[in-house]
Amino acid sequence: MNILELSIRELLLAYRSGNITPTQVLEAYKAQTDKTEPAVKAFLTLDWDGAFERARELEAAGDTTLPLYGVPIGIKDVFMTKGMRTTAGSKILEHYTATYSATVVEKLIAAGAIIVGKQNCDEFAQGTTTEYSAYYPTTNPYDTTRVPGGSSGGSAASVAARQVLASIGSDTGGSIRLPAAYCGGVAIKTTYGLVSRYGLIAMASSFDTVGPITRTAADAAHVLQAIAGHDKHDSTTHQREAENYVASLDQDLSTIKIAVPRQANITALPEQLQIQIQATRQHVENIGGSVTEVDMPYLEKALAVYYVIVPAEVSSNMAKFDGIRFGERANGATNLLERYMQTRDAFLGDEVKRRIMIGTYVLSSGYIDAYYKQAQKVRRLIVEDFKKVFTQYDALLMPIAPSIPFKIGEKFNDPLSMYLIDIYTVTANVVGIPAVALPTGLVDGVPYGVQFMGSYFSERTLLALAHQIEQQRGAFPTPAVVKYQKS
Ligand code: GLN
Repeated sequence: MNILELSIRELLLAYRSGNITPTQVLEAYKAQTDKTEPAVKAFLTLDWDGAFERARELEAAGDTTLPLYGVPIGIKDVFMTKGMRTTAGSKILEHYTATYSATVVEKLIAAGAIIVGKQNCDEFAQGTTTEYSAYYPTTNPYDTTRVPGGSSGGSAASVAARQVLASIGSDTGGSIRLPAAYCGGVAIKTTYGLVSRYGLIAMASSFDTVGPITRTAADAAHVLQAIAGHDKHDSTTHQREAENYVASLDQDLSTIKIAVPRQANITALPEQLQIQIQATRQHVENIGGSVTEVDMPYLEKALAVYYVIVPAEVSSNMAKFDGIRFGERANGATNLLERYMQTRDAFLGDEVKRRIMIGTYVLSSGYIDAYYKQAQKVRRLIVEDFKKVFTQYDALLMPIAPSIPFKIGEKFNDPLSMYLIDIYTVTANVVGIPAVALPTGLVDGVPYGVQFMGSYFSERTLLALAHQIEQQRGAFPTPAVVKYQKS
């Protein structure tokens, strides 16, 4: 039995039949992390001492019925983890230790999971490749000269490299879906308000969502089961009855109706990517479903809307990092304003500064009507576009990105072409709907993937669809960094 290849379900069965202990599992994952981490650089903070202590606690309590008993999990470094360093990928929080834990972290612990450490990400989740981390870029485990996607790149790369069995990331405009697809994993971006944001360091509050990155859709269902639900600390979470994502994975999808928006311009993509998308269409049809082209006139406006409203919200959320309340502080200022300015200049990165400036501009009294308010109106039109499609179709099929993982450094100094990578992912956040990302296959040796977006709270259908497509596709190839270590 190769411990590292077990799914969550298989691991739980092994625990319950007494074949294995959390300490043994953690030892396997630690050995794998020691081997791969120098090349992958997925973590900003590792806490093996804490993890092993936790494993012993679980063993002592012996409750193997816990839904994530002894499952090693990594957390994107934008979530508060009590007593553990929490940097958000920024130098301004380099020495910041969280004073409480995010609700998702609390829920994972209550479910029996073992938190292994905090994963690398773009600074305050603002980016697409993890290159905007103030520390170091994470690499793609399939080809370490390439980006893993972002902003949850550390989280996706460490799942692919078998350093953890699952990760938790945040998705404001694609940040779990893009890295999952680029690293051969699955991500479920949740409906806005399904999972608590309490203790998530905010990027853009009306877009931010929380979701798992795993190797399979079934694993994602297990993790989502543990983290979804109302939280009294987050008034935007919904009061709905809990759903069973795991039990519905094999539901009958033989009449599922999928739409593909013509405005997604799939025929303009490189041919090898069209082949990947075509393969997914084929899988849907093999299940018995239908795929139909539809018109969504406002879809093309989503990226522009995103890059007006998100910087506006970013500029507001970043205001608290002023050198007084949290984190680092520049010394040498002679008055308060200077102190703010010197601190933010010294400890925030270029991309964050860019967004603060754009956001402040679109909110300024001379321009708020022309940009921010206009974008909010178009956001509403995009929402209506989607609602209309979902009256007739169960889900929308879209690419994740217009290209395969590119070389580290290739777009680093070209923010606009970086933003364009987000063209397919941001819509789900503009609208607030869920989307599941899954890899289709390797292109030039690196993973590529697609996503299905569904109506509000359709996570059960989306995960079942991804799960059943996986059965058609077969097991996804393991990354170079893992194969190399095995030989
Ligand atoms: N790449 C997108 C951006 O830079 C999405 C980031 C995210 O989802 N956190 O804004």
